[in-house]
Amino acid sequence: MNCLFCKIAAGEIPSKQVYQDDEVIAFDDINPQAPTHVLIIPRRHIATLNDLTETDDALIAAMTRRAAAIAKERRIDQAGYRTVFNCNGDAGQTVFHIHLHLIGGRRMSWPPG
Ligand code: AMP
Ligand code: ZN
Repeated sequence: MNCLFCKIAAGEIPSKQVYQDDEVIAFDDINPQAPTHVLIIPRRHIATLNDLTETDDALIAAMTRRAAAIAKERRIDQAGYRTVFNCNGDAGQTVFHIHLHLIGGRRMSWPPG
């Protein structure tokens, strides 16, 4: 499949890997928006959040808990951090393989732009 994040998961395109296991990998975003900007993705291709089913519940939980674990490793867990799934055009999704952004290390505003 011609998917950038499938290729990163397969090691066909290099990335600065932060974590990997059988289900999930995490790597630094190539265009970081904060001192910590890590993407957590499933190895399996899922295009958008709209494509999730009940069988993916454990996967999403694992991705969320991995974000929290990486935040703790980076020692930004107490100061705070943001986790974001962008879905489709209005949210600015550009890569159609779901990914959880972990962003932190600086103060952020709300609402997002
Ligand atoms: P989104 O806009 O939510 O779809 O996020 C896609 C993210 O992927 C952006 O933050 C990009 O900077 C990031 N990105 C695109 N290509 C790469 C790459 N080759 N390695 C790491 N991150 C990437
Ligand atoms: Zn993919």
